[in-house]
Amino acid sequence: MPGFEEVNYYFRKAARVMDLSARVEKMLVTPFREVKVDVSITLDNGELGTFIGYRVQHDKSRGPMKGGLRYHPTVDMDEALGLASLMTWKTAVVNLPYGGAKGGIAVDPSTLSAREVERLTRRFVQQIHDIIGPHTDIPAPDVNTNAQVMAWIMDEYSKLHGFSPAVVTGKPVDLFGSRGREEATGRGVVAALEEYLKDAGAGEIRGKTFAVQGFGNVGSWAARFLHERGARVVAVGDARGAIRNPEGLDIPRLGEHVQKTKSVVGFPGSDAITNEELLVSNVDVLVPAALGGVITEANAKEIRARVVLEAANAPTTPRADEILGERGVAVLPDIFVNAGGVTVSYFEWVQNIQQFRWEEEQIGAELQRHMREAYATLARVVRERKVSFRTAAFIVAIGRVGRATVLRGV
Ligand code: NAD
Repeated sequence: MPGFEEVNYYFRKAARVMDLSARVEKMLVTPFREVKVDVSITLDNGELGTFIGYRVQHDKSRGPMKGGLRYHPTVDMDEALGLASLMTWKTAVVNLPYGGAKGGIAVDPSTLSAREVERLTRRFVQQIHDIIGPHTDIPAPDVNTNAQVMAWIMDEYSKLHGFSPAVVTGKPVDLFGSRGREEATGRGVVAALEEYLKDAGAGEIRGKTFAVQGFGNVGSWAARFLHERGARVVAVGDARGAIRNPEGLDIPRLGEHVQKTKSVVGFPGSDAITNEELLVSNVDVLVPAALGGVITEANAKEIRARVVLEAANAPTTPRADEILGERGVAVLPDIFVNAGGVTVSYFEWVQNIQQFRWEEEQIGAELQRHMREAYATLARVVRERKVSFRTAAFIVAIGRVGRATVLRGV
């Protein structure tokens, strides 16, 4: 899994272009707070289950810290540090008034019952409630967490601090969640690509071929929006395997298949392939939308897509990023591409604080505006500084976070 060092590699690359002083660099990289807690619960069979929970708060110079909670066996402090710092840079790229945080529990939730996941979530909140809050740190869904988990967090936190819907985002719409949050990241991913294609004069989505790794929240919505725009999604993968149909997969029907069987594997009319084969498919655009660290030195030379659209967080290792750059593959970076999720999370938080509900059209229009403006800023830096999109994104983010830090005073 990519960790803190990988993110800092990209940070330093941008810092060098900016001529950032070593002292400022050190201050911006250093996390504000790292927390590791015991999350023990009684399992359904009466035995004790002990898990470790993490929350890293990376930077708060631009506002309350914001970032997802992940329930996955690979969760550890290094991963949380890397992902929390990515959130600092991501919220700055789309210019939201937030800092960055991330966390989760090292657990495979598929081995737990729904009641056990609920107990685990409530216990975790009891352990970290004094460091999160609507104006401090606002968690959101990530891998293997969803609107129901957010509802439990809100409920448990509210028991301790009074009614606090704004303590988490990604809640169910019936419990002060925002319309449009669930599909927001996927929608933003597609908006990011549209802006790039327009700017690069590379045609439109219609008729282009795609491979999408991951068919959870981000991958399934991204695939659906691509399909609606006339794309041919020819390969899709998940944790159990991958499938291919060169004619293009019927994404709405694949969605129904996954609802029933919990995997894309076995979808009628498709061939089984491996996730490794998916990554090197002969497509126009590769969309990693699952876990990090999947595009590596080992496969970067084989990737045939001309565009890598980073819907997942940190899917490309630094060495792979260099190789793709040398080969002229356009890598649109995670801290821009998947920022639609945190952007609509921000709209949810604003609505909770205003105690007012926005219409879906307003949310969609504001999301498009944020992605469009972020792209325009990145594209300008790419041209002016002759750097990659990733370095441009870090330059924009470091500039914003750095200026806020200096203005507030150390
Ligand atoms: P999810 O749990 O809904 O889905 C994850 C998907 O990845 C599933 O289809 C799963 O089967 C698949 N997967 C897991 N392990 C895999 C493996 N080894 N090989 C292939 N596929 C595998 O999670 P999500 O919310 O869709 O998040 C996906 C990625 O997007 C993560 O990197 C996350 O950090 C990032 N992200 C999510 C959001 C959001 O709003 N949910 C926002 C920004 C970034």
